[in-house]
Amino acid sequence: MSLRTDAAIAVDALEAFAGEALDRHAPVIRQTPMADLHRRLDPGRLIAAGGLTGDALRAFLAAYLDSATRLHHPACMAHQVAVPHPLGAVAALVDAFTNNPMAIYEMGPSAATIEHAVLSWMLGKVGWRPEPLPGTGAGDGGGAHGGPHGGGVLTHGGSLANLTALAAARARMAPRAWEEGTPGNLVIVAPAGCHYSISRAAGILGLGCGAVREAPTDPDGRLDPGRLATFITGLRREGAQVMAVVANACSTAVGLYDPLRAVAGVCRDLGVWLHVDGAHGASALVSPRHRTLLDGVDLADSLVWDAHKMLRTPALCAAVLVRDHRDLDGAFREEASYLFHDKDEPGMDFIHRTVECTKAALGLRLFFSLAAEGERGVAAHVERQTALAAAAAERLRAQSGFTVAVEPQSNIVCFRVDGDDALQLRVRRILTEEGRHYVSSTEFRNRRWLRLALMNPATEIADIEALIAAIERIRSPAPPA
Ligand SMILES: *Cc1c(COP(=O)(O)O)cnc(C)c1O
Repeated sequence: MSLRTDAAIAVDALEAFAGEALDRHAPVIRQTPMADLHRRLDPGRLIAAGGLTGDALRAFLAAYLDSATRLHHPACMAHQVAVPHPLGAVAALVDAFTNNPMAIYEMGPSAATIEHAVLSWMLGKVGWRPEPLPGTGAGDGGGAHGGPHGGGVLTHGGSLANLTALAAARARMAPRAWEEGTPGNLVIVAPAGCHYSISRAAGILGLGCGAVREAPTDPDGRLDPGRLATFITGLRREGAQVMAVVANACSTAVGLYDPLRAVAGVCRDLGVWLHVDGAHGASALVSPRHRTLLDGVDLADSLVWDAHKMLRTPALCAAVLVRDHRDLDGAFREEASYLFHDKDEPGMDFIHRTVECTKAALGLRLFFSLAAEGERGVAAHVERQTALAAAAAERLRAQSGFTVAVEPQSNIVCFRVDGDDALQLRVRRILTEEGRHYVSSTEFRNRRWLRLALMNPATEIADIEALIAAIERIRSPAPPA
């Protein structure tokens, strides 16, 4: 049993797995019943007896990968998960093997330095002042760019990142909440189409999910800045205290961006924290062509940006970024004498900024994914997938009996075939059973849509053609010969 021999077995198996997916030989998805899979994988025997190495490892991986969903398959178009850059996966291995929980600098100095570096890169993309390196003398105030510097932390996913950002908002807007509990009149204003992790955060932070008030939007669900100020003053008149406005960049369902500059103007005038949920769409910031979609994001207070969606980084890796680092530094308070004590240290800790205690070297996954081809490589990826979505929407719209929900702004495309909501779900179910195409579905404008998240750089317009053909066969099956 050695790292080299077992990793070589795994690498061989993974390359075969990706290869047969890429050439469309293997199914993209195989919904093996769990009881069958359990029999095939036989985990109980291995747990009891051990011996998972060499040929046993080879056999296990063959069975495991056989029923794994193949993100590398060009017809994998369902969810917003990256097909990781292979070097990103190598980073995950390095992280797993070194296992340096880096939230305390001394426990993982290299990992912490890389996390600091990727956060600084992201802060710079937003237009916020990166955090100075410890020991370089830059303080809180002033500086060449004026105002305090930004700050950030990587978390295990956008949901946890949204919770963290909203905890920071609560600490500023209701500073006594940590000790005394959350005031009963605190509310969050968010579009109905915001990600469910926002209402979960409201539940966890003690506002209650009923405290998420539906912001005025246009018919496509985008925040309407023209009606936002009246809405907020109306809430205040009723005695509510608005803790934060949440904007989508972009929305999960259809991938539309809220007008951030105008929304930020309203929030600034009214003294309300603006949180931008850019879990999926903040990656447009790396593209000179698409970054205008987030115009005004630098006026927000906080931003969430998932690297495991559009930055080709293996899950999980999400950034919480704030314009003023002090907001994030104040998000949590704690007593843990074994971790938190005065010390002279040559680096910086991240532990006070996160829910997590032991925290993986997530920065390394993002760093390897970025540094493999440089930031222009990721920009090209974002641009390619966005262009593919536009082409897919055009092709779908040209098909008789197909309707496209909105002109895509990102790499997400929603469409439906003529018929009721049940038909859309039936189409998706049959596609999934056939295993040659994997799509998702969503509700939008009170109807059910089929949904494509075009994450895979190997997906071509020909794959959209094949999908349309498959849907046509489901819609109107050929009569029996
Ligand atoms: C994907 C997504 C999330 C959730 O992020 P996870 O990393 O899956 O936890 C939150 N908000 C938006 C807008 C998203 O698209």
